[in-house]
Amino acid sequence: MRILIVEDEPNLSRQLRQTLEQAGYAVDSAMDGEEGQYLGETEQYDAVILDLGLPEVDGLTVLDRWRKAGRKMPVLVLTARDSWSDKVAGLDAGADDYLAKPFQSEELIARLRALIRRASGNASAELVAGDVRMDTRSGRVTLNGEPVKLTAQEYKLLSYLLHHKGKVVSRTELIEHIYDQDFDRDSNTIEVFITRIRKKLGAELITTIRGLGYSLED
Ligand code: CA
Repeated sequence: MRILIVEDEPNLSRQLRQTLEQAGYAVDSAMDGEEGQYLGETEQYDAVILDLGLPEVDGLTVLDRWRKAGRKMPVLVLTARDSWSDKVAGLDAGADDYLAKPFQSEELIARLRALIRRASGNASAELVAGDVRMDTRSGRVTLNGEPVKLTAQEYKLLSYLLHHKGKVVSRTELIEHIYDQDFDRDSNTIEVFITRIRKKLGAELITTIRGLGYSLED
């Protein structure tokens, strides 16, 4: 899952990035509204964290432009403390959730997880396919109840497939959702990760659909 952070405070931005990467997300960040708007329009994100007070273009305008351009990714707006008018304006402009500054990173992560889950139609924090279970809160993956250790990239890939269980996911889509912008993207590595995941979790878990991509069945 890939997240965009649009936040102009360098310390907060860095901190958010670190926290999210540790939680298993691919992360891009923009320091002003103009760059943020551009990234949100041209890249594929599973969720966006958007500060409202931004240089160049303010957060509400950015959000409004995304929605008018048909961009539907879930957006969590960061508001100034106690500013109820910011919250209302954010929700009216098409935000899916908000969080007032200062906030605990645990709360931010929990809200993001819920947003991403809902956007992909999953009600539970635990994602299941056959004998494989992923607890998106702890990042724990089990096979028949036994813990299985995955690398960060394997986890990202499996998480995306589990969130989109039953759908055919192309290699391009996987690349767009498990790597950040700066990553040297090589589509051959996807095949390598799939092979490793099959070795760890069973060959039948992921089906290859020739010429189209991959699919997880129940
Ligand atoms: Ca700001």
